[in-house]
Amino acid sequence: MKLKTTRLARAVAASILIMVATGWNAEAGEPSARYRSRYVTATGLNAEAIERECDAIVERLCARYGTPARWRTFRVRVEPRAGGAIAGYTLYSEPNVVEVVSFRSLEESRGSVLDHEMTHAFFFYLLGSNFDLLVNEGLAQNSEYRERARLRDQVWRRYSAGEFLPLSALYGRNEYDGAALLYTEGFSVVDFLVGRGGSRWFAEFVAYLTHDARDVEDALSAFYGYATLDELERDWLEYVRAGQARSSTRRVALFYNETQSQKGTQE
Ligand SMILES: [Zn+2]
Repeated sequence: MKLKTTRLARAVAASILIMVATGWNAEAGEPSARYRSRYVTATGLNAEAIERECDAIVERLCARYGTPARWRTFRVRVEPRAGGAIAGYTLYSEPNVVEVVSFRSLEESRGSVLDHEMTHAFFFYLLGSNFDLLVNEGLAQNSEYRERARLRDQVWRRYSAGEFLPLSALYGRNEYDGAALLYTEGFSVVDFLVGRGGSRWFAEFVAYLTHDARDVEDALSAFYGYATLDELERDWLEYVRAGQARSSTRRVALFYNETQSQKGTQE
């Protein structure tokens, strides 16, 4: 159907649009629309609180690691006690994240499972792809700020019990089965490297490792000055033995500035 537009009709249409856009609500005298997340969608009773929590997580990740060039909103579900032994998961379907799920309550998920899974989703968009599981789980574990002390205890317990596998047995393995050490050692080695060069530098290292590097040695030597995984391992285990304090690590700051200026970019 085609309508003849008059000046009056256009004016009426414009005023309706403005009312809709501002959420004008004469009876309640307050905005009628509920909070809308920039990054996720949640449904159900806790939807608004979940969306606010996820937005805060993504904003923290952006401040730490940089802003993804592309982001597609995905669903987040928080379903306490539905997953059995599984705490949560992130589901992808290239090129998008489909779903993030936590099987803990929102309260229990905060600083823990939700931050972990949202970190997987965040890095999927930041890098435009998936990447090595040891590094991926290590990054996700590092976002669990409420679990940090427990994770460091676990690192020390397993290391001193002689349970650690060499990094060369874990890097590039990309299998979950029989490798709970992916999480423990992944957490610790990422923690150590972030201590050496900061979060942004680590994100650049992972991007280079994923998209440009010939191999892991190429990326390690370009960003951290290690010629091999074994060299990294020796330095990292020294950090574990010394008490896992990031402030005690040998910073790559000088190296960072030189490389940045060589690349002609600004911080
Ligand atoms: Zn994970």
